[in-house]
Amino acid sequence: MLNVPQSYTGNAFTNVDFDKQGRQLGFVSIPHSPNGDAWGVTQVPIAVIANGTGPTVVIEGGNHGDEYEGPITIGELARDLDPGAVQGRLILMPANNVHAVLAATRTSPVDGLNFNRVWPGDPMGSITEQIAAYVAHRIFPMADAFLDLHSGGSSLDILASAIIEPTDDAALHEKNVAAVQAFDAPYTVVIANMGDQRTATATACRAGLITVGTEMRGRGTVSLDALEVCRRGVRNVLAHLGVLEGAATSASRADRPILELGGAAAYVYAPIDGVFEPFHDLGEHVSAGQPAGRIHRIWDLTAGPVTVHYAADGIVYGQRHPGRVALGNCCVVVASPYGGPSR
Ligand SMILES: [Zn+2]
Repeated sequence: MLNVPQSYTGNAFTNVDFDKQGRQLGFVSIPHSPNGDAWGVTQVPIAVIANGTGPTVVIEGGNHGDEYEGPITIGELARDLDPGAVQGRLILMPANNVHAVLAATRTSPVDGLNFNRVWPGDPMGSITEQIAAYVAHRIFPMADAFLDLHSGGSSLDILASAIIEPTDDAALHEKNVAAVQAFDAPYTVVIANMGDQRTATATACRAGLITVGTEMRGRGTVSLDALEVCRRGVRNVLAHLGVLEGAATSASRADRPILELGGAAAYVYAPIDGVFEPFHDLGEHVSAGQPAGRIHRIWDLTAGPVTVHYAADGIVYGQRHPGRVALGNCCVVVASPYGGPSR
């Protein structure tokens, strides 16, 4: 089910020519027939900037609709990059989960699906599954590398970081680490999404693409510091891959320690409904067993706060943004030193 078919069999069409040189701005259109629009289409924005020979790099934003640093960065590249400065081909898709982007929500309001849990998609499925299938089956076979630019969205604030997707392919892992370190984000983190293989980056790795992810703050807004990290980082990776001239980053980047989210122990979940009071800021060092914060039931004076604890040693990597939490919500995420690819 999770294998990526070799050819695309869906109904999407596009007004860009992937084999043409220069800059093209257009759409991938997928026939979509909801109430009020019998013969319409869902339009997913796409740009192709091609010049000469070189690798093909796909850059995705808007995988979730409430994460903004990536889409802004991709839009700037699509409009402003001089095609003559490109060696190879950029396929730029700033708003792939376009219905969620329009609604500024994490999941699609059309079919309720999380775009990053449906890969490699289904060309005959619902609209979210069809968009994923187009990228996985039509775009990925043309590509050498994939950048998936996320932020924390409306429910999390995450340290600006470049992300390594784990893969069993040792040679690809090495290339991924080099490309992610070239991004030169303040933090480099291995994130396995608890082993979930239905993500865009897991699918890109299975397709053999050099894969780079990001988490660029969040809180449902645009963070000035993270936006600068994102703009610079994407250009750094494109230089590393040989698509843009010049400023390949210095070798010192490789000295930065790699962190990881070590399975379930990385996450502190709310055991009750309430308001979460964090005890630490992002980036602070914490250890397993240490109190992470308290959850207050501010509507009931007879119920005292409940203390929650970290289950891992590391730094506070992500924190819930709205204070109000419900049972099972993620309150804090801890990133620990990376144990290596064999784990
Ligand atoms: Zn996301």
